[in-house]
Amino acid sequence: MTDQPNRTPRSPRSPREPRRATSLPRERGNAWRNWSGGVQERSQLTAGPTSETAVKALVIGASGSGLKVKTVGAGHSFNDIAATDGLRLHLDDYRGLVSVNPETMVATFRGGTRLHELPGLLKPHGLALANQGDVDEQAIAGAISTGTHGTGLGFTGLSAMVKSLRLCLADGSIVYCDERMHPELFAHARVGLGALGIILEVGMQCVPAFRIEATEGAEPVDEVLERFAERSRTADHHEFFWFPHADRAFVKTNRRLAEGELPSPDALPLGAVTRFVDAEIVQNWGHGLAASIGAVAPGMVPRVNQLSAGLMGTRKYVADAHQVFVSARRVRFNEMEYAVPFDDGMEVMREIRRVVEAGDWRVSFPIEVRSAAADDVPLSTAYDRESVYIAVHRYVREPHLEYFGAVEQVLRAAGGRPHWGKLHTMDAAGLAAAYPRFGEFVALRDEVDPQRVFGNAYLERVLGG
Ligand SMILES: Cc1cc2nc3c(=O)[nH]c(=O)nc-3n(C[C@H](O)[C@H](O)[C@H](O)COP(=O)(O)OP(=O)(O)OC[C@H]3O[C@@H](n4cnc5c(N)ncnc54)[C@H](O)[C@@H]3O)c2cc1C
Repeated sequence: MTDQPNRTPRSPRSPREPRRATSLPRERGNAWRNWSGGVQERSQLTAGPTSETAVKALVIGASGSGLKVKTVGAGHSFNDIAATDGLRLHLDDYRGLVSVNPETMVATFRGGTRLHELPGLLKPHGLALANQGDVDEQAIAGAISTGTHGTGLGFTGLSAMVKSLRLCLADGSIVYCDERMHPELFAHARVGLGALGIILEVGMQCVPAFRIEATEGAEPVDEVLERFAERSRTADHHEFFWFPHADRAFVKTNRRLAEGELPSPDALPLGAVTRFVDAEIVQNWGHGLAASIGAVAPGMVPRVNQLSAGLMGTRKYVADAHQVFVSARRVRFNEMEYAVPFDDGMEVMREIRRVVEAGDWRVSFPIEVRSAAADDVPLSTAYDRESVYIAVHRYVREPHLEYFGAVEQVLRAAGGRPHWGKLHTMDAAGLAAAYPRFGEFVALRDEVDPQRVFGNAYLERVLGG
């Protein structure tokens, strides 16, 4: 692969001038842990390059010394996908907006840019992301590399919004790719698992900034399951949280307002209402109430969950889209999430409910259920199929293996595909059967990283070497 000089002009926010890095950094042995604390490691070296020249020099230097290289985003993956004992790179000093094309509404960001920085960077251009997940701490490159998604059957995850990438490959070459230039690399690197190259820049398809009218409240869980498919098809964004042992679920439905459209008269501005996600989930999760009760008195969890669900009334509010999509997660938990075919989603959920009720785990954290449109990204969990996402969570101080294992059996039997950044036990053989274009990804990796410069234990398991 050769460097493609098809550069977009630098904005005034350009990073500091390229600094020639001729040797590996001196920092040594920095300890690192992911958000949940479940993955802890010590790399031999760490570096925070400030230019693509520096990234290139680091990759060449490390691979020449036989060191593996891993770029970490915000460390928000629950598994060891971002772990390394070699050279750990972070792009915290390589962030910001590179350019915006007002005609195509494609905005290009440096790879280390955090999602929570995007609204501020896009605001002067009147743009926003079309959809987002639950939190916005992640680096844009980290989020797309694992297929991060929100909810909405008419919307894809972030990776399918990618229009171009600028990568540093394992041999140090810098490559621009999009649908026309290096289309195969572009297709796969959108969910690249950090295996194909270091993402220096990402061009994201944006939409005109918009507001959302959100309706939230608790409803009987049987009804919520019954109506999920129809509501997902008719509402812009629909999801629910079910606390195991409770007979009600928290439901969240978002309506996108057209430009100039007034919200319903009973929709209050955000700030005048306490959102259920904040009031219940964040406060339960945030203050650790149910979680702590679960840790010391598991027998009380069903009653706490029932009580939380029973207290909920309906609330309606209006706010900028990103404020509605995102909420804080202050208490640490472990999470496993699978995508299953949309039409099977609620049958799978009913089976999970049976398994959870039959087990004697006292689970204080909810199961979250979302949806997404089919997309064309080969390793996207929604590749070529509309999907229901089912995510189970457990407080970090409570054992998750048995509970997740039982639910995972149901999800795998349903042809589920695991979120690449969350806990799961699938290996290359199972994943090859789940993804029609898995072989193409592995072959491309053999071509662009034959020495496995970007390899680690997780990639060995999921890609088979
Ligand atoms: C509280 C919480 C809430 C979450 N909510 C959601 C949600 O709503 N929806 C959802 O889908 N997921 C969700 N996730 C999962 C999360 O979005 C993904 O795991 C995401 O990959 C984390 O991004 P990160 O920047 O922390 O990347 P990391 O975890 O640091 O890295 C993930 C992968 O990206 C690679 N990577 C990072 N930067 C680069 C780069 N510049 N070039 C190449 N590869 C790179 C890493 O090497 C690694 O392979 C959540 C996680 C947490 C902890």
